[in-house]
Amino acid sequence: MEGTRSSTGRDDLLRRIRDFTRSVVEDLGEGRFPLITIDRFRNYCTSPDFNCSCISDKPKGQEILTLQRKSHVYRIDVLLRVLLIVQQLLQENRHGSKRDIYYMHPSVFSAQSVVDRAINDICILLGCSRHNLNVVPVGKGLVMGWLRFMEAGRKVDCIKSPNADHPIPVLVEEVKDIVSVGQYILIVEKESVFHRLANDQFCKENRCIVITGKGYPDIPTRRFLRLLVEKLHLPVYCLVDCDPYGFDILTTYRFGSMQMAYDTKFLRVPEIHWLGMFPSDSEKYDIPQQCLRRLTAEDKRRTEAMLCRCYLSREVPNWRLELEKMLQRGVKFEIEALSGHSLSYLSNVYITSKIQGRAYM
Ligand SMILES: [Zn+2]
Repeated sequence: MEGTRSSTGRDDLLRRIRDFTRSVVEDLGEGRFPLITIDRFRNYCTSPDFNCSCISDKPKGQEILTLQRKSHVYRIDVLLRVLLIVQQLLQENRHGSKRDIYYMHPSVFSAQSVVDRAINDICILLGCSRHNLNVVPVGKGLVMGWLRFMEAGRKVDCIKSPNADHPIPVLVEEVKDIVSVGQYILIVEKESVFHRLANDQFCKENRCIVITGKGYPDIPTRRFLRLLVEKLHLPVYCLVDCDPYGFDILTTYRFGSMQMAYDTKFLRVPEIHWLGMFPSDSEKYDIPQQCLRRLTAEDKRRTEAMLCRCYLSREVPNWRLELEKMLQRGVKFEIEALSGHSLSYLSNVYITSKIQGRAYM
């Protein structure tokens, strides 16, 4: 089942918060320094050894926070403040965004990232997912195509106009009754490509569902995608630019991100096929020389670091080979480079020929 790491009902979480704060207060009352143990997770390592333990979703170590260490004092302060806000949200059964929480004590929370880390720590401490805390991100994903569902009692009917975009629901746990007559799900990295397809009436011509997370996908986009895959059992393809960012976004959809590694098993979508753009597509699809750009030093550094991720060699060695090719050739290009042929070449030729010819990996 999606969403539940252990028992994560509201009452359960409130009880766990009370137990946790009580033990901290008791320690302080009896003159002891409380020790806060936080499990550490990762979704990949860079060990060349095939037997690394990343494949299991178990913690890969622990961190112990104590008031005896100066650097931990601030972190504990933030953690307890955010915990108090979360407790309030749960008690009143309201939702708040990470940004709302930041603005409750902006002088203490020096940056949004400080709040984000505390939220992740709290999820690990309580053994739950972020949405269980009633903390919702501001959604940015879009969906269109042959899909209909209920969202919090409201009907969202994309089929009526399959080339119109709809925001991806933020409260994914309230999405029910998903119906589709689509044949596949297509994820596109960029919003511009999503709108290109909409303009070309792509979903009218092709029975499919198209999703974009507008760059690195947020949690609702990934959870919604995962829900669609679980309920509809449709093949999923992902189309990204041929550059290190595109590849990293592709791996975020399929394997999850390091930041959310504690929750990866509810966010990753292992069914994803990489549809393109592959480095070899520049020749296969005759991308003009002037559309190929040199990899920068930073691109090369990122690519080399990605090549070491253990999940690539273990689960998708052919993806890794393509990434290696990108580095060897030293060039990158965007999906839009196909527009050199014609504006709708992407919709009419590239995507359909790749899917029909099974030219994905
Ligand atoms: Zn590993």
